[in-house]
Amino acid sequence: MPIATIDPTDGRVQKTFDPLTDADIEERLARAVDGFAALRSASFDQRATWLRAAADILDAERDEIARTMTVEMGKTLVAAKAEVAKCAVACRYYAKHAQAFLADEPTDPAAVKARQAYVRYQPLGPVLAVMPWNFPLWQAMRFAAPALMAGNVGLLKHASNVPQTALFMEELFSRAGFPEGAFQTLLIGSDQVEAVLSDKRVVAATLTGSEGAGRSIASIAGRELKKTVLELGGSDPFVVLPSADVEKAAAVAVTARCQNNGQSCIAAKRFIVHTDVYDAFAAAFVDRMAALTVGDPMDEKTDVGPLATEQGRTDVEELVRNATDQGASVLCGGTAPDQPGWWYPPTVVADLTPDMRMYREEVFGPVAGLYRASSYEEAIAIANSTDFGLGSNVWTNDPAEQERAVNDLEAGAVFVNGMVTSYPELPFGGIKTSGYGRELSAQGIREFCNIKTVWVG
Ligand code: NAP
Repeated sequence: MPIATIDPTDGRVQKTFDPLTDADIEERLARAVDGFAALRSASFDQRATWLRAAADILDAERDEIARTMTVEMGKTLVAAKAEVAKCAVACRYYAKHAQAFLADEPTDPAAVKARQAYVRYQPLGPVLAVMPWNFPLWQAMRFAAPALMAGNVGLLKHASNVPQTALFMEELFSRAGFPEGAFQTLLIGSDQVEAVLSDKRVVAATLTGSEGAGRSIASIAGRELKKTVLELGGSDPFVVLPSADVEKAAAVAVTARCQNNGQSCIAAKRFIVHTDVYDAFAAAFVDRMAALTVGDPMDEKTDVGPLATEQGRTDVEELVRNATDQGASVLCGGTAPDQPGWWYPPTVVADLTPDMRMYREEVFGPVAGLYRASSYEEAIAIANSTDFGLGSNVWTNDPAEQERAVNDLEAGAVFVNGMVTSYPELPFGGIKTSGYGRELSAQGIREFCNIKTVWVG
């Protein structure tokens, strides 16, 4: 993959970048070590002041940053602006709470035959962050804000199609006042990741991306015995049961599937509807999907822009074709327009069976799979019949059924009567092949800490 900004609305290359050389990487790793020494000795108050300054820059320059993201990966400008704002919120959240999250935790000294005993959280060092293009600022910030507050330093290997957003991240933290080397962007290809992760100075890694990239990072880190957090793919179920508010569920389903042009790990991808409300839900859902405005992502009236890459569009087309070739029905959309750029219309596919790829694989575009279930048990069985386990949605107004579904859905998150989303206050992550470890909240900031036991006799 070339490191380049390629406008997905027309496929034109706007700017290319040379990958770093080995000597460049060496220089940056040395700088990361120095940056760690400076950052770990800074107080929480000092780190918080820097992080709040970063939040202020994000607020002040929101529109310009948003435009860069839209040009690089095609999300609507409206969504890009919201993403920048969310990053500022996350910075302020960790600036405010990190010290409490990482405060010493005393235990009963008598129970451990000590005068004093407690847990102390300490930073680990330079952490490699391999990040995807779909939320180019948010995914990286979700790592960066807690990492920097904990005193770790960041080395960002961003996706090759968002180099300008990646470079902005480094500039942001530098302008906010963080010490040199506290957060650096490495413009490198994925083939250069192994050398960086194998370097002794890099102590851990986090990757948000596909299952394949996750396996690769995990195997290198396993060999090197380094801690990893993996946030991988998902094919979230959206279960609608008879007591649900069907109209509301259908309206939210459209956003849940088509947010970010359908390219979100926690987008609802499989809509599993009880037979009693299937027809009503399907009609409302298909109408709303078909009514979405597809077009220029810079236009405020646009709901869905292009897919981010040519390969991404090809992958979506292949999954839909595989299903329809085997008898699935297309209820709306289903054909890419014949025009430059990587467009794909909002699409609903029904009559899916387990031998179709769409049943098992993640569709990273605005394509919904619709399933009919004859009972609660069958709905949950379909929901769980996936190797992924990231988020899950269930719609029911029956309190007992809500409680049951919270227990039964195999996922890192369950949202009842709402769509899965991320908040700084709640942990985020998956089970099964959606990865392991958690980001955000207190759990997230502790992932890259030495949880040190202190016993004083
Ligand atoms: P991707 O191809 O895995 O790329 C993600 C990052 O990994 C990029 O920086 C990429 O670099 C790098 N990479 C790819 N292969 C690698 C390898 N073998 N070794 C080291 N690095 C490698 O994923 P994507 O297509 O950009 O993103 C879509 C996927 O990410 C979807 O599956 C989505 O569900 C998942 N995702 C998960 C979450 C979550 O929080 N769980 C959030 C967002 C997205 P290059 O660009 O240079 O190839």
